[in-house]
Amino acid sequence: MSVTVDEGVLAEPRPCARCSQPSLLWVAGRCADCIAQLGLQDDSTEYQAWKNDVREEFGRK
Ligand SMILES: [Zn+2]
Repeated sequence: MSVTVDEGVLAEPRPCARCSQPSLLWVAGRCADCIAQLGLQDDSTEYQAWKNDVREEFGRK
């Protein structure tokens, strides 16, 4: 049985699109730290933008 790994779930460090730090844990280009920060911000604009990216990324499958 072979495992299909697509671009969204590659388990290798990649630079975060937001903070440029390499991270193993990231969704739609943002690392886990940034995602946590997005969720805590009073201004939800960036969080909504990220959620839209997530929807696009998973909507493709
Ligand atoms: Zn980040």
